[in-house]
Amino acid sequence: MTLTKEDMLRIEVVEGAKAIFIKGLVDAGEGNVSIRNGKREELFITPSFNKYLTLKKEEIVHMNFDGTPLSTGKLPSTETKMHIAIYKSRPKVQAVIHTHSEYATILSIAQKGIPIIMEEMYIFLGGSVDVSDFGKAHTEEIGQVALNTLAKKNAALLANHGVIVCGKSMDHAVKFAELVEKLAKIYWGTLQIGEPKVISTEYLERFQKLHNSLFANYSRSKKKK
Ligand SMILES: [Zn+2]
Repeated sequence: MTLTKEDMLRIEVVEGAKAIFIKGLVDAGEGNVSIRNGKREELFITPSFNKYLTLKKEEIVHMNFDGTPLSTGKLPSTETKMHIAIYKSRPKVQAVIHTHSEYATILSIAQKGIPIIMEEMYIFLGGSVDVSDFGKAHTEEIGQVALNTLAKKNAALLANHGVIVCGKSMDHAVKFAELVEKLAKIYWGTLQIGEPKVISTEYLERFQKLHNSLFANYSRSKKKK
């Protein structure tokens, strides 16, 4: 059996979803994973109330950026609008993941972003992980709130809600979702024993090229609204 391009994208979503589930970043029924459909204004996204363990490629929902479903069967994730807002505004983003991973969500509830405490944040994510203003879940509002907080970066905390990450590939997005949770845990732990020391931006400038060439996914020509 030959797989179509569509099948391969669906499989990537399934694999991304299973990866974050196995890593403990989501429980059944929460979080969502999507991928852009090439140059079309379309995406493939995990279904609403996703049971990660048994997820199959046939359950992945194909949708147009205007919100029209292009497949029958399962309903799309209720947070599809946030994914679409990111794809529309960031043309180089190929994959988006949203989780409620625990330590990152703790910080999102304290509305505390993660300053640059480790070099890898700068290399992979493009800098600090900032926390958004509060936005109502499942609405376009949270899409805009997420975009504003992401700016040119690859990860943000959504106030009182969780994490949003975006990448040039599904592998990148999975890596970023894992990294945000690890950083949140480390930052939280450091706060328990003392005052976290932030790495100075001067020192980090040397990683800018590395970030730009490997992990950055914003359009460098236009960044005006
Ligand atoms: Zn959510």
